[in-house]
Amino acid sequence: MKEQLEAIQAEALERIYQTEDMKELQDIKVAYLGKKGSLTGVLRGMGKLSKEERPAVGEIANRVREAITVSLDEKTEKLEQAELEQQLQAETIDVTLPGRPVKVGGSHLLTNIVEEIEDLFIGMGYEIREGPEVETDFYNFEALNLPKNHPARDMQDTFYITNELLMRTHTSPVQARTMREFKGEKPVKMICPGKVYRRDTDDATHSHQFTQIEGLYVDKNVRMSDLKGTLDAFAKKMFGEDREIRLRPSFFPFTEPSVEMDISCKVCNGEGCNVCKGTGWIEILGGGMVHPRVLEMGGYDPEEYSGFAFGMGPERIAMLKYGVNDIRQFYTNDIRFLKQYHHA
Ligand SMILES: [Zn+2]
Repeated sequence: MKEQLEAIQAEALERIYQTEDMKELQDIKVAYLGKKGSLTGVLRGMGKLSKEERPAVGEIANRVREAITVSLDEKTEKLEQAELEQQLQAETIDVTLPGRPVKVGGSHLLTNIVEEIEDLFIGMGYEIREGPEVETDFYNFEALNLPKNHPARDMQDTFYITNELLMRTHTSPVQARTMREFKGEKPVKMICPGKVYRRDTDDATHSHQFTQIEGLYVDKNVRMSDLKGTLDAFAKKMFGEDREIRLRPSFFPFTEPSVEMDISCKVCNGEGCNVCKGTGWIEILGGGMVHPRVLEMGGYDPEEYSGFAFGMGPERIAMLKYGVNDIRQFYTNDIRFLKQYHHA
């Protein structure tokens, strides 16, 4: 019987040693120590032993039970530990892996240009003003010295909504609105950025909707030299300190005299190239001294007040500054084009 017990112990310990499976370990426990287990079976047979033999065999049986139990416990702990480590391994976060990139939007190139121009004029003491895009004929034309049937109205092919309502063709009505709001009582120093509309056929340089920024400065003793100095400061800040400007006589109904401003071509430095069409100069904007009639319509006495006004197209400025060759690229929302100009 003693040999039988030792054989059971050896066999059990070997099976426990061999297994790497929790379920199998349970089965082993049942197979040896369970109610129908082999050790239990042997112990049941102890009744057949003599009184003298019992204590010795009982002691061996207890030792065998103890050995199997200890071995089972140790193995259970070992397997649990291995399982935990495996789980930790599987759930490890590798902090050295690069993160997934997050796509970040940015402001539109035109928005950036408009904001750049705004900042520049705010720095010179101008305030930003806005007005409606659906405008009255009065503010869009009449208040700007363009009475009905004035031939210059044809220069601005207009989307009319009714006889009196239209999509504004320029941001100048904001100037007229501001002057009337100030009632001729205080100086005006403002720029008005915004969308304008014309019945143009869209091509590389024309769009039926585009952006304008106009400026107006009305005060006592405002002179042509003030306009020139302001535009020169603008051109140098926008296009570089080495840019020269020149003013050419022009015609606009709302200014007298009227000028157009060119800057020296950055590509050829005035030598002449295909960007400046061989002239060495690039046209940037139009302006002039506010027409006395416009001051009057705005409620300002032309004997007491004078002023200058100018207007520019941010699309044109962006095209020159960044070498964009088709105005439609500003409006077609091609992310490949736009993302080149996102600020970090
Ligand atoms: Zn040039």
